[in-house]
Amino acid sequence: MKILIINSGSSSIKYQLLEMPSAKIICLGTIERIASTEAISTYKTDTHKVEKTYEIATHKAGLERITSLLLDAEMGVINSTEDIDAIGHRVVHGGKDYVDTTLINEEVKKKIKSLFPLAPLHNPANLEGILMAEEIFESAKQIVVFDTAFHGTLPIKAKKYAVPNVLFNEKRIQAYGFHGTSHKYVSEKANEYLGNQNTKLISIHLGNGCSITAIKDGKSVDHSMGFAPSNGLVMGTRSGDIDHAIIFYMVKTLGYELDEVSELLNKESGMLGLTGYNDLRDIEEEAGKGNKDCIIALEMNAYRIKKYIGAYTASMNGLDAIIFTAGIGENSSLMRQLVCKDMEYFNFHLDDSKNELRSKNTREINTTNSKVKILVIPTNEELEIAKQVYALLN
Ligand code: AMP
Repeated sequence: MKILIINSGSSSIKYQLLEMPSAKIICLGTIERIASTEAISTYKTDTHKVEKTYEIATHKAGLERITSLLLDAEMGVINSTEDIDAIGHRVVHGGKDYVDTTLINEEVKKKIKSLFPLAPLHNPANLEGILMAEEIFESAKQIVVFDTAFHGTLPIKAKKYAVPNVLFNEKRIQAYGFHGTSHKYVSEKANEYLGNQNTKLISIHLGNGCSITAIKDGKSVDHSMGFAPSNGLVMGTRSGDIDHAIIFYMVKTLGYELDEVSELLNKESGMLGLTGYNDLRDIEEEAGKGNKDCIIALEMNAYRIKKYIGAYTASMNGLDAIIFTAGIGENSSLMRQLVCKDMEYFNFHLDDSKNELRSKNTREINTTNSKVKILVIPTNEELEIAKQVYALLN
């Protein structure tokens, strides 16, 4: 069965075509900077690798570009759009009603739309991807996997906010949790590696968005993002935890418009707000040259993660392993070192030389006397989505 995975973001589309159940990757790529004259398209198969810059004005044009690559006479991997059996779409917010992988129908699309206010950076682009795919791949089954799904197991004490009950009962105000596909994938890999399903894990997803999850016996029991993907860790452009009084102060006393505050906290804060850069590679390089803002921002980022590790160890009453994953977690030995520094009390000890090793596989980077394991596990949200789509259809 050929399953195409589409992860449609605000200005990008990531895609991967897999043969299931063997999980063989037939091709993969991205379209970045949609809506610009210099959109970058990448496409990779076993035999070809291309990167080109085009004018790609819309998501539809992006998906058409991907389709023409898949069908290309020389580099293509399918003969007709009908060769695609199913399309798996990543949707960030599924709200209260959708925790399972779901076949898309009109009602599901309406629901995704009704959740735009809760995930304004993500759900509109996700729905756009679905609508375009329905047009182009008419015969394929369209299926959605929600990023909130894995957190459906959050206990009530972790998902309720301490506000009047009417907001929880009638207005859907609660913590939903995000990056669920990634946290699920890496925690299952960790349990496989540890040879034990009854574990206490902390999964640390550090990419453009960052979040941390406490996972007990394979279930999400606490998580740093909440009602929207904005709470918790310091991210590329999002602030993570702040005192909500700051928002009222900015509006009432400093004269900001509410939309300006939202823009500022979601798109101009985090590492970008602290340093002027949002790519951690640039920040590490600047810190190496002595840039004080960059040094402080790295310390703040690691400090926030440490605090969550402490909290989640307490909430699970123990810890078997922490997992680093996603762009920063998998690649930044410096961030891992800052997080693991001075954590002897928690019984984890980083092996500095193992920390520097690079690999695409699960790896253990703690010393042999470390009671808590420190794992680096490359995430694979596309494979996880493909597995769920395959399971739904078979
Ligand atoms: P993701 O959202 O998982 O694709 O992660 C993207 C982020 O990973 C980028 O913004 C970079 O900050 C970070 N990243 C990728 N490669 C490296 C690296 N070699 N060192 C440090 N950070 C990296």
